[in-house]
Amino acid sequence: MKSNRKAKRIISAVLCIMLVALTAACGSQPAEETAAMFKAGTYTATTDAHNGELNVEVTVDENTIKEVKVIEHKESPGISDPAIERIPKAIVDEQSLAVDTISGATVTSDAIIVAVTEALKQADADIEALKVKKEDEKGSKETKEYTTDVVVIGGGGAGLAAAVTAHENGAEVLVLEKMPRLGGNTILSGGAYNAVDPGRQSKQEIEDSIEKYYTQTYEGGDKAGNPELIKTLVEGAYPGIEWLEGLGMEFNDEVFTVLGGLWPRAHKPSAPLGTGFIDTYSNYIEENDGIEVLLDTEAKELMMDDDRVVGVKARGIEGDVIVNSNKAVVIAAGGFGANVEMRNQYNEIWPDLTNINTTNHPGATGDGLVMAEGIGANLVGMENIQLLPMGDPETGSLSGNIEQGVENRIFVNKSGNRFVDEGARRDVMTQALMEQEDSFMWVIVDKHSYPTEDTTNNFNETIAELLEQGRAYKGETLEELAEKIDVDADNLVKSVEEFNKAVEKGEPDAFGRTLFADKLDAPPYYAGGRVPTVHHTMGGIEINTKAQVLDKDGNIISGLYAAGEATGGIHGTNRLGGNALADITVFGRIAGENAAKEK
Ligand code: ADP
Repeated sequence: MKSNRKAKRIISAVLCIMLVALTAACGSQPAEETAAMFKAGTYTATTDAHNGELNVEVTVDENTIKEVKVIEHKESPGISDPAIERIPKAIVDEQSLAVDTISGATVTSDAIIVAVTEALKQADADIEALKVKKEDEKGSKETKEYTTDVVVIGGGGAGLAAAVTAHENGAEVLVLEKMPRLGGNTILSGGAYNAVDPGRQSKQEIEDSIEKYYTQTYEGGDKAGNPELIKTLVEGAYPGIEWLEGLGMEFNDEVFTVLGGLWPRAHKPSAPLGTGFIDTYSNYIEENDGIEVLLDTEAKELMMDDDRVVGVKARGIEGDVIVNSNKAVVIAAGGFGANVEMRNQYNEIWPDLTNINTTNHPGATGDGLVMAEGIGANLVGMENIQLLPMGDPETGSLSGNIEQGVENRIFVNKSGNRFVDEGARRDVMTQALMEQEDSFMWVIVDKHSYPTEDTTNNFNETIAELLEQGRAYKGETLEELAEKIDVDADNLVKSVEEFNKAVEKGEPDAFGRTLFADKLDAPPYYAGGRVPTVHHTMGGIEINTKAQVLDKDGNIISGLYAAGEATGGIHGTNRLGGNALADITVFGRIAGENAAKEK
C-alpha cells in the first residue's frame, strides 16, 4: 500500500511539473485532485493508558484528518481532562501526530497519540510523514518577557500561599504553573491540616500542646528533621489556620486523627479534599490586582546575575517565557513522587518502586529540586520517600478509600487476619502491608462509618457509588462480607471480636493499638481493598527558618526561597499525616513575606 501511495505521489508530482507551465497554480489545485493521503472512513483503536484502556475514533477523508474523539477511557478526572480535550484537537488543527504532549498528563497524551496512530494506520496513512515536526512553525513562536517583583514556580498550596502573602506584603507576583490547572497535589490531598487549636480541641476534651506536637513530629520522623524548622512549623500551624479563615476558608468545628497523624489535631476543611485551599487562593487572586498566573508554563531554569537569582526561564504553549524578578524567586514546585526515575535514584529504604503507583498528580516530577541543584542548592533527606498503605489497587489514588478517620476501622489481609496497629506511623503500616500476601489488605468498617449509603468518604464518594463500582463490598453479617471478599470467615470474625474486646478495655491491644472509638458491631459491614502507594517525598531543597535556600556550604543563595514539598529536612524519615498542609501553608507564607521584603 505504502509503495502504491508513493508511486501515486511521484506521478502526481510529475503531472504537476508538466502542468506548471500551463497553470502556474499547481499548489492551489483542489485537494481531491492530489493523491489521497488516507482511505476515507471512520476508524477506532485501543491502547493502554495510565489507568486502563483508552479508545479513540478517528474520521478521515482522503486528504484530511476530520475528527478525533476519545470515546472511552479510565483516566483520572481533572488530571487527564486537559489531554483528553486538547490532544485530539491539536491533531486535527495541526494535521499531525507530532503534537506537544500536555505537561503533567504525558501518559494520557501519549496514549491518545498512540491510539490515533493505530487508527490512522488502518486508513493507510503515511505515519512517518505525520510524525515529522513542523519546525518552522514552532520556531516562529515568539519569546514573551515579563518583569515582576516575586516569581513563584508552582501553583499548588505552597506556591499560592507564597503568592498571596507576597502580595499582602506589597509585591507584584507572577505564578508559573506547568499544568493546565492550579492545585498540584494539594488539591488531591485529603485536606487534613494539623494544628494545636485550643478552641476546637478543648471543646472535644483533647489534651494537646505545641510541645507534644513538636515531639510527635520530631520523633515520628526518627529525629532526622531539623528542630528549628519543626519548631517553626508547629508554632506557625494555628496562625496559618487563622490566616486561611481570614481569607474566607472554612474548617469543620471538630478535629480528628488522620491516618498516620498520631493525634487528634487534624482540621478538616468544609470543602472536599484540598479544593478549599485552592479556591480560597484563587478567589483572592481574582479579587485583587497584582498576581498574574501563567498556566501551561513550565519553569525550566533559574536565571542568575553573579550569585543572585534574578528570574526564571520557562516554556509555555506559545513559546519561551522569561520572567525577571526584581526581588526574588520562590520555588514551590512540589515533590517527585510521580517521577519513577528520580524515586529509584534516591530510594534506599523500600523495595524497587518502579511498579508502585502513586497518589500524586503527574506533574510531581521534582523539577524544582533539579533547577535548584543546578545552581548549587543543597538537597537533603532525598532517600526519605513516604508510601501509604491506602492506594487504590488499580490506580494508586487515595480515592475509593472507605476509612472515616483512624479510630473506627481495622485492616485485614487476604486471610482475614489483622497484621498491624492501624494507628501507627505511615511507614510502619506500609512496611507491614508489604509483608502480606500480594501486599494487599481490606479496610473493614461498619455502620458507624456509614450511617446511610449516601454518606460520603473523604473523596466525596458515597458508599453506594463505591459498592456499585465494585470498589467496596457489603455484608449484613461478617460471614457474608467474608464470602464476598473471599477471606476466611472464621478469621475475619475472630479479628473483629478481638478488636472489639480491645475497644472495651481501652488498653493497647496485641498490635499496640491505642486509638479506638466505636466497636465494629453495627451492620452492615463494608470492606474496601488497598495497596501501598507512593505519597510524599520528604527530601528536597534545604532551607532555613526564613525559607531561604541554602547551598552545599550552608550559605544563603540570594534571591531564592523555597517552600512546600519541594523542600527537605522538616519531616525527617516519616511525615505525620496532616503535617503537609500545615507545612506548605506555614512555609509558603514565610517564603512569600520574605521574598516581598527583599531589596
Ligand atoms: P506543594 O504541596 O508543595 O504546594 P503541590 O504538588 O501542591 O506541592 O504543587 C506544586 C505545583 O508545582 C504543581 O501544581 C505542579 O504542577 C507545579 N510544578 C511542578 N513543576 C513545575 C515547573 N517546572 N514549572 C511550573 N510549575 C511546576
